[in-house]
Amino acid sequence: MNRSVASSIRTLVGRSSVAQAAYPHLVKGRLGTERWALSLLERGRSASRPTTPSKRARIVAYHSIGTSAWGVNDVTPADFERHLQIAVDDGWTFATPAEVLARPAEQLLAITFDDGVATVLDNAVPVLRHHGVPATMFVVTGWADGGHENGYAHVLDWKGVTALQDAGMTLASHSTTHPDFGKLSVSDARRELETSRERMRTMLGLDTVEFAIPFGQSANWTAAAQQAATEAGYTTVYAQSVGTRPQGTVARTFITSFDKPLVYRAALGGAFDNWEEWY
Ligand SMILES: [Zn+2]
Repeated sequence: MNRSVASSIRTLVGRSSVAQAAYPHLVKGRLGTERWALSLLERGRSASRPTTPSKRARIVAYHSIGTSAWGVNDVTPADFERHLQIAVDDGWTFATPAEVLARPAEQLLAITFDDGVATVLDNAVPVLRHHGVPATMFVVTGWADGGHENGYAHVLDWKGVTALQDAGMTLASHSTTHPDFGKLSVSDARRELETSRERMRTMLGLDTVEFAIPFGQSANWTAAAQQAATEAGYTTVYAQSVGTRPQGTVARTFITSFDKPLVYRAALGGAFDNWEEWY
């Protein structure tokens, strides 16, 4: 059901990469339309259920909190606070990803962030600390080394990453240069995975065994990459949607700039479990 609605919207709005490059606002509009349409369907379904549906433990994935240049992956600080309040109001208990994996039938919610964006330290950490909410940051080690195209205007350097660690955040790997692992040779994949882990050991004194796939869609990962991750010492690999994630990976629900209360509640309720952010 979800997929057919989403694909109908795709057909209506068009999906050529040329159109996406030429009309980013059109792409953004289409992505938002899909998210709202699926949310309304989810609301209709939950309204027709005789009793409250059972929730399952969930891991949500954010990127920036107040970096508008991050586009659909940016959530405003006000919306982020609203999301935490909605989770509390709706009966979720904040937990770590490990707790979510250990107790999947409980209404547990783990908060994660990708990319090491500076506004997470500025805008999310104070709120998370104030309320004692655990969170995980997946760091692109080459970006912390200065390799991001926008430099440190957008992402944290090691001092900033260390500040996340000092604030109690769990840190894990999001690769060395944020490549598409779906297109990498096995040797390049291995280098990305090993170098990132090694760099975190050197700069943070941390031996992480958790890895989040850059871009996170099913096409961005392969069985060979999964094997390389295991050989590099990672025990948990985080992907995207419940229904389409590659074998052996852990699902996360991506949260977007469109996620006002209706959409956010739908996301927690599972409306996007067969939907991948494709932007
Ligand atoms: Zn990323």
